[in-house]
Amino acid sequence: MKGAISYAEYRTDDARLTIELIKAARRHGAEALNYMALDRIENDEAEGMRLHCSDKLDGTSYVFDARAVVSAAGPWVDKVRGISEQATSKKLHLTKGVHVVVHKKELPVRSPIYFDTKDGRMIFVIPRDKVCYIGTTDTDYHGDLDNVLCTKEDALYLLDNVNSYFEGISISLANVISSWAGLRPLIKEEGKGPTELSRKDEIFIDSNGLISMAGGKLTGFRMMAKKLVDLLQDKGMVNGLKKCLTRDYQIHADPFGSYEEYQAYVNKLINSFGTLGLNYDTSKYLVDNYGKNAASILSDIDQSNDDFDEALIRKEILFTIRYEASVRPDDFFNRRSGLLYFYPERISKYKDVVIDTFAEYFQWDPKFKDRQTLVMMKLINDSINIV
Ligand SMILES: Cc1cc2nc3c(=O)[nH]c(=O)nc-3n(C[C@H](O)[C@H](O)[C@H](O)COP(=O)(O)OP(=O)(O)OC[C@H]3O[C@@H](n4cnc5c(N)ncnc54)[C@H](O)[C@@H]3O)c2cc1C
Repeated sequence: MKGAISYAEYRTDDARLTIELIKAARRHGAEALNYMALDRIENDEAEGMRLHCSDKLDGTSYVFDARAVVSAAGPWVDKVRGISEQATSKKLHLTKGVHVVVHKKELPVRSPIYFDTKDGRMIFVIPRDKVCYIGTTDTDYHGDLDNVLCTKEDALYLLDNVNSYFEGISISLANVISSWAGLRPLIKEEGKGPTELSRKDEIFIDSNGLISMAGGKLTGFRMMAKKLVDLLQDKGMVNGLKKCLTRDYQIHADPFGSYEEYQAYVNKLINSFGTLGLNYDTSKYLVDNYGKNAASILSDIDQSNDDFDEALIRKEILFTIRYEASVRPDDFFNRRSGLLYFYPERISKYKDVVIDTFAEYFQWDPKFKDRQTLVMMKLINDSINIV
């Protein structure tokens, strides 16, 4: 060997990035409503567009008037455009991608690794605390958009490639501690298969005025947002719309200035709360998820509870309810804390505490609590069982 190169690959927590972005938008006056589905658009000569929506939690219907409507519904873009029955005018080609998670002791990597698969694709192995996740696949998908699952075939494809690539590594399905599957809303191109399709983003404008954006990558979200804001401005669709600010906009209200500052903060929390039971791993987990808000979660903890982890999870949930619009256990497990995939042992231990904390806060009646428990259990089962 004459030499080698290494390049930096960065890990993003997509759920945290999205929630921090929504919080930033709210600081600037935006209103954000989760679980509010757009069911139908009505065009009214006098009023403009009228949106018929429903709250997916309690079924209440709402009507909103709008001057412009942008749909960023990902894999559901075709459905929102109301063209799901007309195959010829469909814009999307959906492909499924799965990730599987194993303990680092099965695959002891220290930094993200990228390698080529036997069939000429690429796979990443990405470490996160005590686990690493392996992904992803890229296969055509025609199933239920709301129930995308990791199959044995998907998982074995990833494990087979990892086992062939890393010497001395032999990971089986039994070693997989969790998995998830998602859909890429790629832009359809006749005659092209999943891996040949471009990941470019596109904007579609329908005759009823609905603007949809699809394709693209998470890493390109600022450029995609700018394209949309510029379009709305060029077409004069929203009076008084300000110039897009994203280029110089810092998303987090109180970010760390450097990696050293972040590390010092993790240690400072241990100094302040170590006597309560806070160790390095938990301090890092809290700071990774909640930044400097970790201190306010910890300062509020019930010191009379002998089980520090239980007292902590209760406060964590209350923080995500009050400041991050968590309304169901799966919001917390899946889209706020990452516990579902990366710390599944904490889920199995504290799932009853989680459901009770939500039920107490929102004063759920027993029937509603039972329904939410079923939703939570399906999510947990889907993440630990490969079908
Ligand atoms: C397996 C996989 C791996 C990926 N890897 C990478 C990567 O390494 N790097 C990268 O940059 N990108 C990656 N991506 C792409 C990235 O995940 C997407 O670009 C990103 O999720 C798009 O975000 P979005 O908000 O546009 O859509 P989504 O995240 O799909 O969100 C769409 C939202 O619309 C909502 N919705 C649907 N219908 C309605 C309705 N009728 N009313 C109201 N709301 C509705 C849904 O509930 C959902 O919340 C990957 C994607 C997959 C699937």
